[in-house]
Amino acid sequence: MINLDQQSVVLGSTPSSKEAAIEAVATILVNNGCIAPGYIESMKKREVVANTFLGNGIAIPHGLPEHRELIHKTGIAVLQVPGGVAWNPGESATLVIGIAAKSDEHIEILTNLTRLLDDSATINELSSATTADIIIEALSGQRRPVPEKAPVLDLDGFQSITETISGEHGLHARPATFLIEIAKQFEAEILVEHDGQAANGKSLASLLKLGVTKGKTIRIHAKGSDAVDALNQLKNAIESGLGETAEESNGIQVAHGWQPQSVAKTIPGINASPGLACGVVRQYVHERIIVEANAKDPDYEKNRLKQAVSAAKENLKNLHDEVRAKAGAAKAAIFQAHIAFLEDPELHAEVNELINSGRSCGFAWRQVIDDRVHALELHNDPVLAGRAMDLRDVGRRVLKHIAGTLHDQPFIPDEPVILIAEDLTPSDTAALDPALILGICTAGGGPTSHSAIIARSLGIPAIVSAGPAVLGIADHTLAILDGDSGNLYLQPSAADQESAELARRHLETLRNSEYETRFEPALTTDGHRIEVVANIGKVEEAEQAVNAGGEGVGLLRTEFLFLGRETPPDEEEQYQHYTAMLKSLNGLPMIVRTLDIGGDKEVSYLDLPAEDNPFLGERGIRLCLNRQELFLSQLRAIYRASKHGPLRIMLPMVSSIEELLAAKVLLEKARIETGADQVEIGIMVEVPSAAVMADVFAREVDFFSIGTNDLTQYVLAIDRLHPTLAAQADSLHPAVLRMIDMVVKAATEAGIWVGVCGGLAGEPLGAAILAGLGVKELSMVIPSIAAIKARLRTMTIAEARELAAKALSCQTIKQVRALQQP
Ligand code: PEP
Ligand code: MG
Repeated sequence: MINLDQQSVVLGSTPSSKEAAIEAVATILVNNGCIAPGYIESMKKREVVANTFLGNGIAIPHGLPEHRELIHKTGIAVLQVPGGVAWNPGESATLVIGIAAKSDEHIEILTNLTRLLDDSATINELSSATTADIIIEALSGQRRPVPEKAPVLDLDGFQSITETISGEHGLHARPATFLIEIAKQFEAEILVEHDGQAANGKSLASLLKLGVTKGKTIRIHAKGSDAVDALNQLKNAIESGLGETAEESNGIQVAHGWQPQSVAKTIPGINASPGLACGVVRQYVHERIIVEANAKDPDYEKNRLKQAVSAAKENLKNLHDEVRAKAGAAKAAIFQAHIAFLEDPELHAEVNELINSGRSCGFAWRQVIDDRVHALELHNDPVLAGRAMDLRDVGRRVLKHIAGTLHDQPFIPDEPVILIAEDLTPSDTAALDPALILGICTAGGGPTSHSAIIARSLGIPAIVSAGPAVLGIADHTLAILDGDSGNLYLQPSAADQESAELARRHLETLRNSEYETRFEPALTTDGHRIEVVANIGKVEEAEQAVNAGGEGVGLLRTEFLFLGRETPPDEEEQYQHYTAMLKSLNGLPMIVRTLDIGGDKEVSYLDLPAEDNPFLGERGIRLCLNRQELFLSQLRAIYRASKHGPLRIMLPMVSSIEELLAAKVLLEKARIETGADQVEIGIMVEVPSAAVMADVFAREVDFFSIGTNDLTQYVLAIDRLHPTLAAQADSLHPAVLRMIDMVVKAATEAGIWVGVCGGLAGEPLGAAILAGLGVKELSMVIPSIAAIKARLRTMTIAEARELAAKALSCQTIKQVRALQQP
């Protein structure tokens, strides 16, 4: 850490303006030999692109990253301005802390500063101090020795445990959400302590402020009747990784081996998603959301905020469902973390306080979010930068509802581009079309941000934290983005473009060797065929499925047509959608699943009563049988569409034969009304009762499609969205496999075929076991198709059967996962 000495502090300054204050503090740095005079201009310029006011009278001016060569050594200078200097409208700085950062030695001082941010009394003391010592002591951390901290945390009656955080990115938003979700289940008061700081164990924002990184130790204190249970559960959860999976660690390797020879400029950033992208750049600019500063009626403002927050939560739930369907539950989990941000009691308390003081809800909300974002950014830690981005994203989402600008237009460039943005939120990223976005480069953000995770899942090369200089790059500038090394190269020579393109292709060939053979059938080496088809939810995905090697659609989740809108789609609109999909499939079969609303998929216009256990409530076929008009209009649309291509109908969540028979009456009614031919009718087997009674159901249907996602949750009694248990809801549990075996046997006996359309079908081991169990069709997310086909082509059906037999005889998930695959 650097020494802050008397020469670094100037007391009682009265600069006439912000620029004069920056100049004065920078001059201290010049005089101390930390920077060349040219860096003063850089510090002023930085202020134009980024606000360095942290709140509570503290500003931290510093220069632009590209002028780092003007820094001779790392240093910090303090300009005390007792009377304050106007920094932003309505914000005045009393402590101006100039930073010249060549290395990270100054971080400790910044961390001490963050801790002071909430401590107005100390800030007031420092702002009016008449000796530099007090300031030096406070910023060097000498004023908070651990023994002095202890009384602040009154631990009388608390029980405590000590745990080490082992996750790659420390206690970031998802593991922290995981932790608070457990903590919230207990009455006990729960505190988390780290490095002399304490946080409310039930508040996400409070926990994140601790800035706990990998390998750091935390103490958890609990007090109350269920404190022991709470501590035990928290201990187990932390020791089993707080729900983090290795998949999301940023283990990026430079795989392509490409190096540029001659480029006009290299902009270094941080690698966030691997791969090379060659093309023209395009700037992405967020619209600015305008809000009133003040408002007269606090109650009215609080109500507006409440409505905006609940609307934002509704969007997030829908987004969660979409991303989960597209990229899996782990990738979608961030949106659950965002919902947790919105439920944070401390955040709401702070906002309400500002509203009570006369601020509008928009202003108050923005202020509190900005303060927290700045506090996280101040740590200068890429992991926390990612968290800051999440917070900014969720904050902006609510602001948009307050300001009434709900629908941001998705960014659709007219040609494939490398996208440049100040920062991208997870929602921005999820809405990008990978076909048009060659690469992403952001000025800010961190490699572990959820936008980066989503970019990886979409296969888009990305770099983050490239600095504000990238925002000045003109649209259409030719560039190469290297997501492995983290560099953006501008105006590469023709030779570099060519070699980068070659390397990109080579990489693609390596990574997607299976993709080459995607159109070949999945024939085992002894000639047994498994059909590999796609799960889709949108019209455009039908074509993507075919292009990815899908042999049809095994699951069309029609509910995606019904989500995120104010009224249901009418028969005609549905007919158009289903027909367009069939046309894209060009003769390949499509299984249309009728509406599976309920559970975690809510739609406001259906006015469904709130249920304590929506997954056990009016969901799927139950809802459709209770809303026959809605159901019939969908069935008519499906039957009309069936005239345009091979189509089958599948009913979700069937749990009793009566439901199936009642639905079949309505199906026949719709068929006759539309004059359509018979089509094959099947049910999803996803409720244990349907699996157990499969022999009975088999007499009434043409096929079964096993929904392993729901079947697993109902067999194991684990909510598939449960923030802490969902990871144990593994479809490779022998109990689930035995149920599947039962269903296949009953179906074979009755002469009907079985498919699987849950997540298990898209897992290499799962697919092999399912093939061995006798499943004929595997339906999965589009990106898995080529790999699964390639996997099935490497084994004989006899080997698959042997594997399946071994799996059925296992006792645990672990034993199944450890099975040697042929
Ligand atoms: C399932 O439950 O496995 C399934 C495919 O349906 P959904 O995920 O849409 O509930
Ligand atoms: Mg299901």
